[in-house]
Amino acid sequence: MKSVTIIGAGESGVGAALLAKKMGLDVFVSDFGIIADHYRNELIEFDIPFEEGGHDFEKVLVTEVVVKSPGVPEHAAVLRMLKEKGRKVISEIEFGSLFFSGLTIAVTGSNGKTTTSGLLYHILKTAGLNVALGGNYGRSYARILAEDSPEIMVLEISSFQLDDIETFRPEISILLNITPDHLDRYEYKMENYVNAKFRIAMNQKSSDHFIFNGDDPEIMHRMETFISPVHMIPVTTEKYAEGIPSKDGSGIFELSIKGRHNLFNAACTVEAARLVGLTESQIALGLKTFVNLPHRLESCGMINGVEFINDSKATNVDSVFYALDAMTRPVIWVAGGTDKGNDYSVLMPLVKEKVKALICLCVDSKKLIDSFGPIVSEIVVTQDVNQAVETGLRLAVPGDAVLLSPACASFDLFKNYMDRGDKFRKAVQELGQKVESLNH
Ligand code: ADP
Repeated sequence: MKSVTIIGAGESGVGAALLAKKMGLDVFVSDFGIIADHYRNELIEFDIPFEEGGHDFEKVLVTEVVVKSPGVPEHAAVLRMLKEKGRKVISEIEFGSLFFSGLTIAVTGSNGKTTTSGLLYHILKTAGLNVALGGNYGRSYARILAEDSPEIMVLEISSFQLDDIETFRPEISILLNITPDHLDRYEYKMENYVNAKFRIAMNQKSSDHFIFNGDDPEIMHRMETFISPVHMIPVTTEKYAEGIPSKDGSGIFELSIKGRHNLFNAACTVEAARLVGLTESQIALGLKTFVNLPHRLESCGMINGVEFINDSKATNVDSVFYALDAMTRPVIWVAGGTDKGNDYSVLMPLVKEKVKALICLCVDSKKLIDSFGPIVSEIVVTQDVNQAVETGLRLAVPGDAVLLSPACASFDLFKNYMDRGDKFRKAVQELGQKVESLNH
């Protein structure tokens, strides 16, 4: 390969451009939209030619290999044209893998990717290894390779990123779970989404390891026809029902993250860390000291004995299931946003058992009210996060929890899930200060 065109100039595309430049390839970047200032500045700084606001097909066609960013949809005119002309189109993950010879550990799934890859990275880093973390979250794979020289790469991988891989082969792959999400990108067929996730293991050999959720019905159904020489490691509840046992006889590992879902995530990381060769005490240290990112069951304050929890990252039904499951207090549940075709039926038993009141924080609350009206005695609707937090406190008694776990995307009222979580946390802090000054 001598030259490469990159479609899309976000984190993946610019990362791929930087890596191509470092490897001495001729590189051209083409973006259909307007490139964000900081990425444009980087391209200029590294003297990488680019275009934005549309693709000039002639320029794009000059190179034999095209790297596409995961955000560019399959039906985009430029991709159709490139495929018609017989150009090789690969993903940024595939491109990066051509230039990395260290150990790759790739994590995918519908939920828990960031937590699990972050935890595994932390364990390996704390043990003193030269490891990097990136992919779908944080720095792109290609950017890491352009900027650093890790020996181990922990990659969080989305199904979109797996769509255009050919030879990408992690030595260790982790498939956490498969529940309906992003089906719009897969012709609304669950089968297509499942197949996309399984691509993480499609090139693995007998010397590689595939850690997967042995309790997940979608995964186990696909397993019936998945023929591969890879060493399979199913992780099932029975392996960690009472916690994750250490193999050195020192008992159950202490975990800094809570909830049944995080116990499972941790069980997968322990399997991977052992494969890398860590000792049980190195693993124990990492598990105990890990601090998860915000917006994932993040405790963000106590007011008058009521705990406020920010789980804004729970943008689908399955993640809310595990949030409610993890609750040990009666819950005032703050939910809602942009619905992704949610089927709430799996939540019904938990909501009946734990939810005292529902606060709909969204523009359109009809579906929530229709679904939960019959089983939740108190439902309040608001579009104001401050009001949601105040209402939560008003409806709660000491010992309760007010849980923001929306089951929906955030775009109706917020920029993104982080904006929603940040505003929730700020509203809690402000209300806390107000209540404290009244108490004095
Ligand atoms: P992802 O990167 O796959 O979106 P995150 O680690 O950011 O996953 O977590 C997203 C949401 O899913 C959070 O609300 C979190 O509490 C929940 N979650 C984490 N792990 C799991 C799991 N194994 N199963 C279901 N939900 C999970």
